[in-house]
Parts: sequence; structure tokens; C-alpha cells
Amino acid sequence: MVADAPGPKDATPTTCAHNRSFLDMLPFGDRADFGDAGRGFIATLPKVEFRNADGRVIYSLEDYGFLASEQAPDTVNPSLWRQARLNMNHGLFQVTDRIYQVRGFDISNMTIIEGNRGLIVIDPLISAEIARAGLELYWQHRGRKPVTAVIYSHSHVDHFGGVRGVVDEAEVNAGNVAILAPDRFMEEVTKENVLAGTPMIRRAMFQFGALLTKGPRGQVDAGLGKVTSRGTVTLIPPTQVIEEPIELHTIDGVEMIFQLTPDTEAPAEMHMFYPGLRALNLAENATHNLHNIYPIRGAQVRDANAWAKYLNEARDQFAPKADVVFAQHHWPVWGTSRVLDYLAKQRDTYKYLHDQTLRLMNHGLKSAEIAERLALPKSLENEWHVRGYYGTFSHNAKSVYQRYLGWYDANPANLNPLPPVARAKKTVAYMGGAAAVIARAREDFATGEYRWVADAMSQVVFAEPDNRAARELGADALEQLGYQSESATWRNAYLQGARELRGAFSAPTTPSRAGADIVRGLSLDLFFDFLGVRLNGEKAEDKTIVVNWEFPDTGQRYALTLQNCALTYLAGRHAAEADCTVTLDRTTLNRVILRELALPEALAQGLVKLTGNGPKLADLFSLLDDFSMGFEIVEPLRDIPLSPPAGRGSG
Ligand SMILES: [Zn+2]
Repeated sequence: MVADAPGPKDATPTTCAHNRSFLDMLPFGDRADFGDAGRGFIATLPKVEFRNADGRVIYSLEDYGFLASEQAPDTVNPSLWRQARLNMNHGLFQVTDRIYQVRGFDISNMTIIEGNRGLIVIDPLISAEIARAGLELYWQHRGRKPVTAVIYSHSHVDHFGGVRGVVDEAEVNAGNVAILAPDRFMEEVTKENVLAGTPMIRRAMFQFGALLTKGPRGQVDAGLGKVTSRGTVTLIPPTQVIEEPIELHTIDGVEMIFQLTPDTEAPAEMHMFYPGLRALNLAENATHNLHNIYPIRGAQVRDANAWAKYLNEARDQFAPKADVVFAQHHWPVWGTSRVLDYLAKQRDTYKYLHDQTLRLMNHGLKSAEIAERLALPKSLENEWHVRGYYGTFSHNAKSVYQRYLGWYDANPANLNPLPPVARAKKTVAYMGGAAAVIARAREDFATGEYRWVADAMSQVVFAEPDNRAARELGADALEQLGYQSESATWRNAYLQGARELRGAFSAPTTPSRAGADIVRGLSLDLFFDFLGVRLNGEKAEDKTIVVNWEFPDTGQRYALTLQNCALTYLAGRHAAEADCTVTLDRTTLNRVILRELALPEALAQGLVKLTGNGPKLADLFSLLDDFSMGFEIVEPLRDIPLSPPAGRGSG
């Protein structure tokens, strides 16, 4: 934290009362989750703190000692405090005969199934260093056996990134280790994080609270787990893809029924039932919290209806024959009747959210009105596992609305309003100027109207970004909202917002860089799409450039055309009238993308060959923008990388 930035403040009496009301409202006497989260514990490390090869800490539970206290401090919602304590369970756990889990070593779980010859690893966490440590912990207590298969349950990084920590690619290439994944896995792994990667990373700082100090006035949890690790992300492509809705396989002697669940928590995801072990693995579709139909880091909206449907089918087909259900986050639920009850409630939560949002939408309610009104039904509100520690009913309802009707509420006053800064300046002027607004807001702060104060102060900050009083009061309001939040992601977002209003944000100096394995997995279509995203349309006015691309090592060719400020391409083609032709191996392109090699250097070394009008290629590359994740969010952009959009207002 910056030295002169005022630190986090106390909870106000309003916040204390709000948080205390949760103690009366929720069944804190129900301790079943604590029993389940600790059940089957075998061992853990004396100190859960992992470092990468450079010695940098990439994950640590060391700063979470404050969670030892059972009683929540005034600055944390007691329901979230409970979840944060449950997520502190860490180490190696036995789930049932032959099934083990490493928990609390990352935000996700690594599941290990004992096969006939060796181990089947499901979801090797985010970082190779930590997946390795998890496997070693297993070996230490269960004996050293080789990994015979890896299964990626879905396309999110916390479920594959550590794969090189548990298998050697040579073993995969030699056919000794199978890697299984759901349909569309590789496509989805690369797609979600490339075209919109920069703002997603910046926004994820708000969702996960990675920059916040850990403590009762800072980050306490992420809902789904403690925090995401920051080690080496790797990826080995699957050798076998599950393509049918239901597939039966025997992996290293273990019978597995795979159920594809596309467009649920991830676009490519699957459930697994192990009939011989009477165990059901629901990937990330049934965890101990309400999940996100839309994560606030930003993503395409997920399908809550499909989510409920696949849970219902899994419950119908597999749960009656299951003694335990578990997921790749949180802890299992044991006992067939408990499994059936748990899955019915999970299913109904997503179905209710979906259907009731649509019902209210059909009555004409707008997104924000639905979000304000919708809450869990009485029969579900005391179920800890559907409460909103990760997703919330509020932002999930808005997301269901968005999936069907989009961002526009059909009120033409909202069709083309002034953009944030211009709107804020007018609003503050109409309200009598910043000083008048701040004076009124102080009165509202005193009565606990934090939502409105945060909103009003945001208007003043957008009108006058250097208005210290507005920034401080806005930060104070966001901070109390954070202290009150049951959702870890909302808490993190509010507290990060407060921190930035108080002036404590400086952009990470290292530019975001994709891992080598991810770049290798990128399709050329996606590479050229990303070039299109980087093209500065304003600089490209009046330019026409046509480039043929040839990749001898993969036999691929592309024709790339810049015209009308848009970059388009055709795969498998060369243009007859190209300005130039670029010939390079795909492996060289990967090095250029990873910034291991600059294009001029590659040309000088003969790794890239250029024929025709070579300077045209340099022209094209000079039109590409670079992105940095240091941009402002809670205040106007200081450094707008665009020329003023003169004369474009009516487009
Ligand atoms: Zn996950």
C-alpha cells in the first residue's frame, strides 16, 4: 500500500448491525460442512507456501492465520467468514476407496484416482510448481506410482495449468500417458483469454482481490477457494477428446462414464461418474456456493438453464448409485440421500434463477429491478451450499437478462446517453456542483446509504478526478459495502475500488504475457483475429495492404487483407495480388508472439523470409496497438490511447 494512502477504516454501526443480522438469519449451528471439509484428511505440509524457480511466492496460506478465530470481526460478513474458514482446509484427503484430493493448495482441487498401473490425475491446478508439490504429498503418503492419465474436466486455467508438474510431455508422446478432455477444449482454452485477455486480467484484480492485503479489512477469500496461484501455467493438448453426450471408458482399469455439459460453468466441461467406485465428480457445476452465470471479471454469459438441465440428468442417472459427490473445488458430500438432496437444491437454484428472471422480464421488469427483487426462495435460503459466495443472485439475474435481451433496457433515454465523463460533468453541475453533492452525500453516509453514496461520488470523481474529498468519501462507501458483502468477489471488488480511489493503484510493470504452451495451442485463425483486434482503425485510414502467409512446417497458408480499416483473412488461400509474402515456421511465429524474438531480428536471422514489397509488412505492424493492463477503472482514463472521435457522434 502507498505510504500516504489512508488505510482501511473501521466498520460503521450500520455495517456492524448488517453483519450481525446474518448471525440471526442463518443456521450457524449446522456444522455438517466442517465435518465434510475435514473428513478423510491424511496429511498436509507444515507450511503451505509455494515459490517459483525465481523464489517468488506464487501461493501462500501463511497470511490467513487471522481466520483461526471462529467469530467474524465487524469488518467481514459472518457468512463469508464461515466460508473463508472452510476454504482453509488444506492437504491430502481421501474421498473414498481409490479417490484422493489435494485441496487448499490452489483455488481448485486436484483429484487423484488410483488405477491399476498408476494414477489418474484430474485437474492439475493452475501452476506446475504446485501440482508437483501436490503429487509429491500424495506419493509421500500413498506410495510412488506413475501418472498414467490426466483428465481436464473443463477449459478453465485452474483445471489444466499445472499439467507439466505431473506429467512429462515425452511420456504423452510415447503413448504412456493419456490426456482426456471434453469436446472443444483446446478451442475454448485459447479463445476466452486471448481476444479480451487484457481487460479480463485487469478486472480479475477486482474479482479475486490479489492486490489487497490479506486480513479482516482486506482479502479473506475468493468464495470458490482462497486465491489463485501465480506460478508457471502449462498445457499439454489432449490425446483423446470426449465428443458424445455420454461416453464410457476404462482408464487404467477404472470405469468412467463421461457426461458432456457444454455451455454450463465453462463452454467445454464434463461430469464423470465412476460406477465401480460409486462416486460422482461434477467438475465445477455443483460447488459449495452459488456459482457465476457471469463472473465479474467479464466473460460471455453462461446458460443457467443448461446448467440446471445437466445437473438434473446427472442426479437422475448417476446419483442414486453414488455414495459420494464431489467437485474440483470445495469438499465432497457423502451418503446417497444427502447427494440426492444436495443436487436437487443445486439444480433448483440455477433453474429458479433462470426461470424467475425470465418471468419478471416477461412482466416488463428491467435488469436492475429484477436483480433487486430476486432472492433465494425460503426453502433454499438456509442451504449454505447455494449462497452467493462467488456468484450472487443480483449479478447472475442481470446476466440471465443479458443472455436473452442484451445490455439495452429498451428505454430510448438509455439508447445513446452521454458517455461517463460528459454525463458526470452535467449531472454534478445540475446537482449544484461537487461541494453541494459531497455535503448531501455525507449526510447519506451517516445514515448508511452506501450504495447511493458510492454512485454519487463516482459521478463527482468522473467529473473531477482530482477531487480528494469525493474520492475519500466514495472509497469509504465502497469499503463499508465490501465489509457487508456475503460474496467474496463483491467484497474484493469493493475493497479494490476503495483502494484505487485512495490512490493506491499502480499498474504491474511486467506486461501480461501468455504462457508458451497456450501460444502453441493458439489456432492461426485466432492469431489473425487478435492482429485484427490490435489494428488501430484510426491510423489505418486510407491504407490497403495484402499479405500472403506461408507456414512450411505445418503446411498452412493465409491471405491477410487490410482494407477499410479492417483486417480480414482467408485460410488455405493466397491472394493473387498480394503486396508481399511472408514465409516462416509456426514455431518461429510462436517465439515472436512470446516476444522471445522480434520480427526484424527474425528477418535478419533468416527465420522469416519476405518477398515482394517488404516495407508493406512493416507498415502493417506499425498500425498495431499494444495493450497494457494499467488502465483506470474507478476514475476517467488518464491516458486515452485514441485520437478524439471528432465528427463521429452520430454514427
Ligand atoms: Zn475452477
